[in-house]
Amino acid sequence: MRRVIVLGSTGSIGVSTLQVIEHLNREGEEQFQVVGLAAYSSQALISQQSARWGNCPTAITSPTSPVLPGSFTGPQSALQLIDAIARPGDIVVGAMVGASGIAPTLAAIERGCHIALANKETLVAAGSIVTQAARRMDVNLLPIDSEHSAVHQCLRSSDCEQEILRVVLTASGGPFRQATLTEMEQATPAQALRHPTWKMGRKVSIDSATMMNKTLEIIEAHWLFGLAAEQIDAVLHPQSIVHSFVEFVDGSTIAQLSPPDMKLPIQYALTWPKRVLGCAKRLEWSQLGQLEFSAIDPERFPAVSLAHQVIRAGGTAGAILNAANETAVEAFLCGRITFPMVARIAAEALGTVKSGPASSLEAVLAADAEARSYAARQIESLV
Ligand code: MG
Repeated sequence: MRRVIVLGSTGSIGVSTLQVIEHLNREGEEQFQVVGLAAYSSQALISQQSARWGNCPTAITSPTSPVLPGSFTGPQSALQLIDAIARPGDIVVGAMVGASGIAPTLAAIERGCHIALANKETLVAAGSIVTQAARRMDVNLLPIDSEHSAVHQCLRSSDCEQEILRVVLTASGGPFRQATLTEMEQATPAQALRHPTWKMGRKVSIDSATMMNKTLEIIEAHWLFGLAAEQIDAVLHPQSIVHSFVEFVDGSTIAQLSPPDMKLPIQYALTWPKRVLGCAKRLEWSQLGQLEFSAIDPERFPAVSLAHQVIRAGGTAGAILNAANETAVEAFLCGRITFPMVARIAAEALGTVKSGPASSLEAVLAADAEARSYAARQIESLV
């Protein structure tokens, strides 16, 4: 029996994770038991989920959430939940939104838990600390991100680092793939949230529209697979069928293909190194039609070029970019700034806020806080 704790259980990844676990318990040889759940504010849903799993302990992390009997509440509650129940060998699914996932993920690693990570911001902001801790504690760090799950699968065709030439992440291009600069200038939050191929939470949907999501994913790939900046590239692929590919030195390329459905990367992260019967949609090869690939336009999607800058700078640069972006996304969703300002504010923060060594969680969180207040001041000056 594998014990699983789901951080972010009421979001899109969390809900799919619980569905995958129900499927695995019906079909798989290995059984999974959900032993803890954390959510931001969806009280009704998390109570329902907890009831399904033997009234397992819960945490509600919103600062305004009322104190509930039998539940941890407040911003530190996911961390308290981990401290109270996590045991070595548990699987912790990290599916919280943004930098809030860093501390509980690190705490879980320190307790010897394996991590299935959907919360890419954790690696972007604290990649060196998280990957070092995972190596030291000898725990698995598996991505629940379709592109990185694809790379992880493709890399299994080689057992030698020197054989890898480069990794190419695919990007759907989001809702503004074909939009003009003028249309992007006038884009509303509702338009930006309308993703053509993936149904996701609000933060990652806006990141997909600005393509900051690809920026974060390039940085995530750097930490997950130990690749240099120039070994990670991204290409547009509107169908979201090829989830990424790896090019080897001999000229061979291995790709991973499946319909856009997060249940597959979730199941892969839970059952790795095994593969078992899946519950995700399958490809209908005869109806697949064309798969297209093209370059990303740097003029309309300036965020993407920031990735290599962050990897080369190292230290707290990732935390700065991430925090400024989170702040700007929130301001755009509230209608306070225009769509192109999101990437501009993130880029300005990266250029202005001084980065330092990411030597501790405190250093990362301090850089995060400084970038948030810088971005907030920029937003204030615009409205
Ligand atoms: Mg992704």
